[in-house]
Amino acid sequence: MSSLAPTPSASAAVPRPLGACRRRGLAASGRPGCEVPGSSGEKERHLVGTRRRGSRCRSARESRDDGNEASTAGEANARRIAIVGAGFAGVATAYHVFRQVADAHAEATADGNDRMVAPVRVTLIDEKRVAGGASGVAAGLLHPYTPRGKIIWRGTEGVAATLELVEAAENAERAMEATAMEATAERDEVNGEEKKKTRPTVSPRETRGRAIARRAGVCRPARSLKQARDLAKHAPASFEAGGRGVTVSAEELRRLIPGMDVPPEVLEATKKRPSRRSLEVDDDDDDDDASLLARPLTRADRKAASAKRRREKNAPVTSALHIPEGLVLDTTRYLASLWDAARLLASSGETPEGCSATMEIRTVASIAGDPALNEPGAYDAVVIACGAAAGSVQELQGDVLPTQLQGGHVVELVPVGDGKENGWPDDAPGVLGSPYIAPLGPERLLVGTTKEYGASVADARRAGEVPLGNIEDDEKEHAPRAPTPKPTDRVTYSRLEIASRASAAARELVASASAAYPPLALENGAWRVDVVRYGVRANPPRSNLGSLPLVGRISAASDDAVDADTHKKKNWWYVGGLGARGLVYHGMLGAIVAAAALSGDDARVPPELRFDPGARRTVDE
Ligand SMILES: Cc1cc2nc3c(=O)[nH]c(=O)nc-3n(C[C@H](O)[C@H](O)[C@H](O)COP(=O)(O)OP(=O)(O)OC[C@H]3O[C@@H](n4cnc5c(N)ncnc54)[C@H](O)[C@@H]3O)c2cc1C
Repeated sequence: MSSLAPTPSASAAVPRPLGACRRRGLAASGRPGCEVPGSSGEKERHLVGTRRRGSRCRSARESRDDGNEASTAGEANARRIAIVGAGFAGVATAYHVFRQVADAHAEATADGNDRMVAPVRVTLIDEKRVAGGASGVAAGLLHPYTPRGKIIWRGTEGVAATLELVEAAENAERAMEATAMEATAERDEVNGEEKKKTRPTVSPRETRGRAIARRAGVCRPARSLKQARDLAKHAPASFEAGGRGVTVSAEELRRLIPGMDVPPEVLEATKKRPSRRSLEVDDDDDDDDASLLARPLTRADRKAASAKRRREKNAPVTSALHIPEGLVLDTTRYLASLWDAARLLASSGETPEGCSATMEIRTVASIAGDPALNEPGAYDAVVIACGAAAGSVQELQGDVLPTQLQGGHVVELVPVGDGKENGWPDDAPGVLGSPYIAPLGPERLLVGTTKEYGASVADARRAGEVPLGNIEDDEKEHAPRAPTPKPTDRVTYSRLEIASRASAAARELVASASAAYPPLALENGAWRVDVVRYGVRANPPRSNLGSLPLVGRISAASDDAVDADTHKKKNWWYVGGLGARGLVYHGMLGAIVAAAALSGDDARVPPELRFDPGARRTVDE
């Protein structure tokens, strides 16, 4: 009998029409950090304008055409927000700005308020493009679990917030495709030809997966006996907490992913002790050995240790944790479409007239020194969402940020031949672990990641595809691999070393992935390396709640961040430190940062995430 949990309900996957007004938005939900300024009281007076009657949702093409045009009505009282960085954090913030304004607008309209919420004009600035940083390298495995099977801080809420954005991105992609098809048909008519409507062609590098989201679940196989015990131990409580993951036997794992390896020690143990299926919670803490090592052992200690050994012997084990509702996202395609969703929302009838979303490709070296950003009246709020490259902005240089930069390579594998014989099974889940295997479709697997300490801001800025030679070449053809740096090192690599490190990383990743899933071994000739990518994570400091992202006002970090006349802190915000949890947290963070930037109110940031980028510097000086 299968122990798999029911698959997600069909209703959860039904997309909401893009143009539909959404009264149950974050603003309406009353969740902390999500209230919209301008919806009541003093702030409303500041933000309201004249309501445009008979507004309608404009088509995607119309929205694109007028994206750069200055609007007429609403221009005078529009709020302007600049967001620097078009990764998970920046694009989610842009989308939520419009979502929150739309929700406030709908609320005001429903209340019969003849005055409306002021429009907002967002400028998204990036030195490369949307998803040009770590977000375009990330594997896209979405789930709320730790490697031991616990739920991360607000993990299920984070996943739910990300799923809302995925749905918005999918709707936007459909809308843009429909518009492109309309345009093709119109062109064909003009040319007097009667051609069949064709789908718009998109470059294969932009659409690595078959779809924005692959909904076949994810799975964490136990790669050691300890992990088999940990997963079995924490699964019941995590399920209760909304994680939806269930333990599975070795046979079930191999049915889910034919060809998957199960380590002999795990197989042996699961045969003897099948995984626990009940939802009872074991509160026993298995990290308590440390106290025994700190002093000579007493009789009581020995008794406790032997009781623990007995417990371990009888403890439940499992071959894997299966999360049927987990997703694999094509992150570049997802973010490009989420930005489209923001643009469509800005130009739809859901938001007040005068809203706009535009993108600028340029580098921001400093907020204060950037005339476009700091000119009086130019922007009401600036958000820095530059990921691991945040230190390239002057106000955040030096030791202002407590994040640790960690580089990592991922490799994309494609089947040799047409993929019909060797491809990843259509309904097989993605694989979590070190390394992980993220199927973007049957014909493309993303395997990652290496963990390389000592990355720099310069490394972060070269995120993306790494040119490399033939990775099956003898290593001596390449420059010898540079020694692995220590966590404290700052290293600058030559171009040859960059290529050499990428080749070595690819070999290492494929070798360890094929230990878990043998068909991937290069010598089998079934899969080959297509692309190697490199990116840098900004890891936040660990707290007792785990590794939480950071949101803060850029205030004490720079004198320029305080208005000389009013002595008020400027409405400049930093969001970062998403670490390895960017996918889970960015939806939630986007809502929080949007609310903070729209209101200028620090209280919109939950205390657990609040961080003043200047506080450390002030204390140190
Ligand atoms: C190898 C690897 C694998 C990963 N896998 C996963 C995963 O599977 N799941 C997961 O949740 N997370 C994963 N992560 C982590 C995830 O990628 C990050 O948490 C996330 O991408 C951070 O998003 P961000 O928006 O903060 O930064 P970024 O995505 O780095 O975006 C910052 C943007 O700012 C731009 N920028 C920087 N400086 C400037 C400037 N001065 N002026 C203008 N623009 C600038 C950059 O071009 C970039 O587009 C992985 C990371 C790496 C490196």
